[in-house]
Amino acid sequence: MKKLSIKSRVALWYAFSFLLIILLVGALLLAAGDSLIIKERKSILSSVTDRALEDVRIIQGKLFIDKDIDYYSDGVYVVLCQDNGTLLSGLEPAGFPESAVFEADHTRKIKNGDSSFYVYDRLIENQKIGKIWVRGITSARLRDIAPSAIRMLTGFLIALPILFLIAMAGGWLLTRQAFYPLTRIIDTAEQIRRDGKLDQRIGLGDPEDSDEIKRTAAIFDEMMNQIEKDFEMEKQFTNDASHELRTPISVILAESEYALQYLCGKPVRGSDPQKGSDPLEESLLEIHSQAVQMSSLVSQLLAIARADRHIDQLKREFTDVSLLVEEAIDRFSKEAQRRDIRLEIDAEECCYMDCDPVFMRQVFDNLIDNSLKYGKTGGKTALTVYQDQTWIHVNVEDDGIGMAAEEIPRIWERFYRIQPVSTPDSSKESSMPAQPLVNEDQARSMGLGLPMVKWIVEAHGGSVSVDSEPGLGTSFHLVFPSKHPDSTV
Ligand code: ADP
Repeated sequence: MKKLSIKSRVALWYAFSFLLIILLVGALLLAAGDSLIIKERKSILSSVTDRALEDVRIIQGKLFIDKDIDYYSDGVYVVLCQDNGTLLSGLEPAGFPESAVFEADHTRKIKNGDSSFYVYDRLIENQKIGKIWVRGITSARLRDIAPSAIRMLTGFLIALPILFLIAMAGGWLLTRQAFYPLTRIIDTAEQIRRDGKLDQRIGLGDPEDSDEIKRTAAIFDEMMNQIEKDFEMEKQFTNDASHELRTPISVILAESEYALQYLCGKPVRGSDPQKGSDPLEESLLEIHSQAVQMSSLVSQLLAIARADRHIDQLKREFTDVSLLVEEAIDRFSKEAQRRDIRLEIDAEECCYMDCDPVFMRQVFDNLIDNSLKYGKTGGKTALTVYQDQTWIHVNVEDDGIGMAAEEIPRIWERFYRIQPVSTPDSSKESSMPAQPLVNEDQARSMGLGLPMVKWIVEAHGGSVSVDSEPGLGTSFHLVFPSKHPDSTV
């Protein structure tokens, strides 16, 4: 069963304690009231009986009863009886037992079935006429002697559930108010976790506040300030370091190319110059190749640092995505030929959206480059562009080495690379289906391309997903919000 929140538990405790206190106070009042009412009733009984006694006289052996005698007053019935119980005058209440014996000057309770009575007897003795009893009788039932108390009790019992509900609601409102800062802390922490934005703050009170929760909130805010500052500094450092590294790397590249040209007698360009036989030439080629990789790494690091710091704001233009994809295919056609991979395109015309073409080119270049790097010789890469009412869809599909399902969630992490399978033997041992050999590009993979792709796609309001089967291929699916040429927004 789901546990109740602290707010609900406190509200319930509050309501139950409130109810308990009301019940206790009610029971005490009832008990005290009950004994007071009984005491009062008994005193009325004796005074009415004594008053009646004053109206009864025996003169010269004869019984005289005053005309003013009250046989019923204040709920008390008065009867005059002989010692054998014979009723001389007066009125007995219904249900009073005839056999009730006489006891002088003593109030007592007599029960008869459902009825109960208080009785008070006074005795008049005379030698001639013997014993005459003046008896006062009154009901001992609370509903007869104090009907208003019963009405109050009934009202109290009816009001009890209503009071309980009011106490619950009041308790809930009070705890909600008291827990508001805690709710703000949870919401803010959740927002930071969900959006990854470190600039969110709770914004309640100050660290000197006497309220513990508000103090916690203020300390949380201060901690976030510090984390954000450190994070900014780290990004600034990456930005600066990448920037500073660019010049020496360019010099190493240029110098190694110059030296190689000098040695081989022909210009060396690009990332994959032909291997030579001379050891000096080989080590220069290695320096050149490492410098190419370093240059690419530094460019990507710089791009990511700038993206994180929002230095490169998107410069949106009304752009045909199909055209961008076609241009990307043209850029990679030679590379595809070199790797013997077919590049196919099926693009709907005029798929317009507001985007930054420079960043978008980077997306398509990255995905096509990966499809060639991780594709298989003699295979193909197919690009599809189409649109519906609201979205533009771009698929980049290859029939290359593919990825294991457990690796897929991690490919969007920076510097994450799937461990390449390096020999034909190990690929046989692997649980995956047989895969093509890993080429030099795969071994040099840096794991920065896809995080950049994701960032750019999401910055344009789109999303990217991937389907992959080891040994069968990979398909990236991009979705962007479209904009029709005739739309004015
Ligand atoms: P890199 O640019 O260094 O390749 P990415 O971030 O682009 O880094 O890719 C991360 C990892 O995802 C790569 O190391 C590779 O293993 C895997 N990957 C990316 N694209 C494909 C693909 N089309 N086919 C198979 N694996 C891929």
